[in-house]
Amino acid sequence: ATPAERPPYIIMLTARGGKADLIQGLDAGANDYLSKPFDPGELRARIEVGRRMVEIQDALLESREKLAYQANHDILTGLLNRRAILEALGLAVRSAADTPALLCLAMVDIDRFKAINDRYGHQTGDEVLTGLATALIAGAASLPVTQGCSIGRLGGEEFLLICRRPIEGADALRGCFDALCGMVATRPMMTRNGPIAITISIGVACGNDASADALLAAADRALYAAKRAGRNRVVVEGSITTPPGEAAESV
Ligand code: GH3
Ligand code: MG
Ligand code: MG
Repeated sequence: ATPAERPPYIIMLTARGGKADLIQGLDAGANDYLSKPFDPGELRARIEVGRRMVEIQDALLESREKLAYQANHDILTGLLNRRAILEALGLAVRSAADTPALLCLAMVDIDRFKAINDRYGHQTGDEVLTGLATALIAGAASLPVTQGCSIGRLGGEEFLLICRRPIEGADALRGCFDALCGMVATRPMMTRNGPIAITISIGVACGNDASADALLAAADRALYAAKRAGRNRVVVEGSITTPPGEAAESV
């Protein structure tokens, strides 16, 4: 009945020396056994064997947890990586139809980021990316959403936020992401080259009957519209639905 992840190492101490009893004990989950009367030296030696086994098991578990974390997180910002955020999107889309809240996607892109790299170097650029990740976490925490946001780095200087919001008009939706845009614009990123002010553009798409692919495409369209309209702004694409026949969870 104990959890399989970290099972205890069990040494049976038994007065029953019969083979059938031992087999039954080992089958039931014991790792080793000693027969009574036991020899203290042998007990110590067998405990030592058990200790080595437990240490190997712990080391394996630890490296498995580390690998699982690395597989899902972006090494620079610590946010979910592309694979993990798209997986989160797939999950959110599959459960969207059953939830009363509206599934929203915000695609965030730093404005003129290349110029920051060109002027200050890539290490400073990396610090800006890390700073923005922190700002997005803080900003997302203050968004009026019904559950926590998932935040990931899609690649380069592009990030994706997935959240569920109460169903309201497009203006309310824009207003909530406007606040995020404004917060980033007014709080410079701290870097080795001093504070650097940046702005972001955000493309928002929402819909509970749309595929992940359709939502991403719509958020991308909205993002490009925000860029064309002058950057440092939010553009909201109207509620998206997927044409019949298209798989709702396809990314
Ligand atoms: P726009 O406002 O149109 O988005 O302009 P932009 O300069 O932000 O966009 P562009 O796509 O021209 O440039 C993106 C830059 O992001 C180019 C690339 O060198 C930089 N970049 C991508 N990944 C990283 C990274 O991990 N670290 C750093 N420092 N820069 C990166
Ligand atoms: Mg950019
Ligand atoms: Mg970009």
